[in-house]
Amino acid sequence: MTVSYRSTRAGADSGDTDFSTALFNGLAPDGGLYQPSAIPALPEGWRQAGSFVELARQVLASWLGDAGLGADKFTALVREAFDFPVPLRQLGPDRWLLELHHGPTLAFKDFGGRFMGRIMDALLEQAGRRLTIVVATSGDTGSAVAAGFTGRRNVDVVLLYPAGRVSPLQELQLTVERPGVRSFRVDGDFDDCQRMAKAVLADPAVRERGVSSANSINIGRLLPQQLYYLWASAQLDEPLRFVVPSGNLGNLTAGVYAALSGMPVSGFVAAHNANSWFPDWLRGEAEAFRFPATVQTLSNAMDVGAPSNFERLYALGERATDLIRGQAVTEEATLRRIAQTHEESGVLVCPHTAVGLEGLAREQEAGATGPSVVLATAHPAKFAEVIERALPGVRATAAELDRMQGSPVRVSSLPADPAALRSVLLDG
Ligand SMILES: *Cc1c(COP(=O)(O)O)cnc(C)c1O
Repeated sequence: MTVSYRSTRAGADSGDTDFSTALFNGLAPDGGLYQPSAIPALPEGWRQAGSFVELARQVLASWLGDAGLGADKFTALVREAFDFPVPLRQLGPDRWLLELHHGPTLAFKDFGGRFMGRIMDALLEQAGRRLTIVVATSGDTGSAVAAGFTGRRNVDVVLLYPAGRVSPLQELQLTVERPGVRSFRVDGDFDDCQRMAKAVLADPAVRERGVSSANSINIGRLLPQQLYYLWASAQLDEPLRFVVPSGNLGNLTAGVYAALSGMPVSGFVAAHNANSWFPDWLRGEAEAFRFPATVQTLSNAMDVGAPSNFERLYALGERATDLIRGQAVTEEATLRRIAQTHEESGVLVCPHTAVGLEGLAREQEAGATGPSVVLATAHPAKFAEVIERALPGVRATAAELDRMQGSPVRVSSLPADPAALRSVLLDG
């Protein structure tokens, strides 16, 4: 038995679709998001899996079977996708940090990017098809997708990012030379990039060549993001409180899937920055789907005014939302928490993780007890200027980023015009 998927906007009598269709469509034809039509129970013995890869294999098999690839191929794919450590680090009594930033782009989006790249490639290989993935990005997602798809035989990637609107380090991560990846610096803003991507994805001549997207709402990214919750849960063997630094709410939704499949939790904390619509909504102080404009903050990967995965949580209903509490954290509190964490435990955390740690402190002040795990979503070295502001004289570094500094880059410029992207895709 494998899981089938249904649009969040579908009526009760709508048909379901299989994983492959949901994966390659990204968004359902009615504009909704694909949601599992039933969430499978955790495989027996998941706590005893012993390694992250073995846990991943068992849990993903309960959702996908072998995805039609054969058991050996599926196992090899899982092993290759998750070939980096996922350490659980104790910060204090009842307080852990789950480090999700040891993949190639040093942020948790590698879990989704690496699995999605490999499963798409394998399914395309089997079908004898090729595809170009078009991604408009303002930062982390693009580099995780590029890193996850590079070297795949049946998939090329076209990355679009807005000129002058990403940090120098982000630009380096987006343009470093990678087989099968072409990067374009667009003379416009992020919305222009997104508009261009949408236009070519809807263009019949381009579609005939085979194009798809890999944006953050793809179900292929959510399924692997359940795994690290289960990994922490298997090690601590108690119902845990998970604190999730949140923007688009994809990470949180994946954790809720794991809970609904049988992982014991004491709850989830959605830790947001000044983009606090979701915590407001949880408290009954904001209206569903009436989203405010985005505010810029230090934890910029969470600068999302309208969290796209809210539609999934909302569709799951109270069995999901009753598990979640919200916290909104200011810039000052974020900087203070970076400094305090370093002083108390000698650990440097990125601003997103600091929002999570501060959210947990607030919950504990309000009476929350029992073991809690904060997801560390990015490596502090990706946000060295924020660290320096919180802790003058302290430099966050990562060998991976230092190595990248000398690497060759390859990037072309494009005007903010869908026709220019169209000819790139049609003429090579
Ligand atoms: C994307 C991202 C987030 C937010 O995750 P969502 O799934 O969008 O809620 C948090 N921290 C970092 C470092 C990210 O890159």
